[in-house]
Amino acid sequence: MVVLLLGAPGSGKGTIANYLEKEYGFFHLATGQLFRQITKQNSPLAQKIKKIINAGKLVNDALTNKLVKSNLIKKMKKNVVLDGYPRNIEQAKYLNKFCKIDYVFDLCVKENIIIKRIIGRRICPVCQAIYNIYYKKPQEKNHCNFDHHILIKRDDDTKQTIKQRLQEYKKFNHPLVAFYQQKGNYKKITLTGKKLINQIKKILKL
Ligand code: AMP
Ligand code: ZN
Repeated sequence: MVVLLLGAPGSGKGTIANYLEKEYGFFHLATGQLFRQITKQNSPLAQKIKKIINAGKLVNDALTNKLVKSNLIKKMKKNVVLDGYPRNIEQAKYLNKFCKIDYVFDLCVKENIIIKRIIGRRICPVCQAIYNIYYKKPQEKNHCNFDHHILIKRDDDTKQTIKQRLQEYKKFNHPLVAFYQQKGNYKKITLTGKKLINQIKKILKL
């Protein structure tokens, strides 16, 4: 099955996708993570993407679509969870040409909570586990529960960039939601934490 997670930055897409990956072996495709990996290279493309991410803007569709297709096409036999893609209607239409989506979950979280989540977010640079200094503290301060690596804060998790990221989200989200609503596999989700995980597990029959 292919599960698609929609929702603002900080709405919990990464946490759910990590869960489906760790517990049920889903292939987790996170475009943000793929782009962050590219920014570590020493190349003009890396510099360009870094600038876009840190400005809170979206990377162009041509590059994003190509990256997704090349990563996804070899994993289509597995269960897949898409996290952060598609981000606009053009990407959704592109994806629709080669991938059937079984479930679309739209994670709806209030903006004040989103901001606190993003400001407090810390990630493990090794296993990508997500923590939060307010809501989901690691067992050992600032270290990953799984591999004990020191947690990091994403460069784009700043107050200034968050505003821009939320603007980008609002600009492109409505047509995207309408697209999947019309397809009939769209589900709005408002629960959080354990209840959210349980709801998703129930729908996916896991
Ligand atoms: P995320 O980790 O999903 O919050 O993404 C981090 C950043 O990567 C975004 O703010 C964008 O700059 C870029 N990005 C991630 N996914 C996409 C996408 N589907 N289309 C365009 N840009 C993206
Ligand atoms: Zn880790």
